[in-house]
Amino acid sequence: MKKLLIASLLATTTLTNASDIVLSKGIKSKLRDNIERDLNALDNLKFKDASPESLKTMGLSNLSAQTASKWLGDRVNYVVDENAISVLKLLLKKVIFVEREGVTFPNANVVPYALDPVNKRPAAVLPEVPTLWPEAVADKKESDDEEKGFVVMSNVGAALYMGGKQSNQVYGMKVSRGLLKSPLKAIAESPRVGIIQIGEGLFMKELTLNNQNPASIANSINRLATFFHEARHSDGNGTSLGFAHSNCPPGHDYSGAAACDENLNGPYTVGATMALEMLKGCQDTCTEREKEILKLVILDSQSRVMKTTYKGTPATVWDDAPESL
Ligand SMILES: [Zn+2]
Repeated sequence: MKKLLIASLLATTTLTNASDIVLSKGIKSKLRDNIERDLNALDNLKFKDASPESLKTMGLSNLSAQTASKWLGDRVNYVVDENAISVLKLLLKKVIFVEREGVTFPNANVVPYALDPVNKRPAAVLPEVPTLWPEAVADKKESDDEEKGFVVMSNVGAALYMGGKQSNQVYGMKVSRGLLKSPLKAIAESPRVGIIQIGEGLFMKELTLNNQNPASIANSINRLATFFHEARHSDGNGTSLGFAHSNCPPGHDYSGAAACDENLNGPYTVGATMALEMLKGCQDTCTEREKEILKLVILDSQSRVMKTTYKGTPATVWDDAPESL
């Protein structure tokens, strides 16, 4: 955290990596410890023989704990709790505030691909997130026994940037540093502001891969893959801004829900890619059962990548350069 603060004072972001991510004090301490353990686990992961496709997707020339950690740290700067933007906090603490008004954003008139009605299949369900946030950046996972999905993570920073762009103003968000300390102010001048909100689902038993051994590295890998997925929402510009999800096609397991990608390098591809590469590194340390479940998680992510778009054209690799003021 110190390193990050110094880095932002010097107006350079090159020093950040996963262990520099600021975890809001609004997150309960036990949960914060668990997230910290996951992020620290990344710094100690062994990667080996990353495939050329994986390197291409990630835009990396080599994959190591160091490069993976930096990739994540470039796109995730703050993790906030699920109640961070409750109505009460918005009203009383002005957690979200307007930093500047009358701002002209780059690509001002370009609608992100998945949010453009022209490219959109009808949604089967109404989005369950506040209307201020484009639904495309809240990620849900299904628990086994219920129809209801739980929010696992959302990229609030990308949503703030997109929401600000729509209304010609720059939003900021206060990130708690604890009682008696003034909060940090994260200003959404780019989707790379990197504010990730964790949801009730992140450490939920139903979504934990190995409940017999909560501290298992496989559980961390599963959650880290979700972090990588979420981090991809911090990328893109113009039509690719935020790598917003498309509604899944008829016949798909998630038909009608904004849980598919119509590109070849979006969040579901990134999540699957990193889960696959982390799985390679735990061949000796993960149990057979853990490896099997991780493979299913990877297949689930891969099944959400549409090779053909709604319009019937082949899906392409989107520009991942982040838009910025
Ligand atoms: Zn997503």
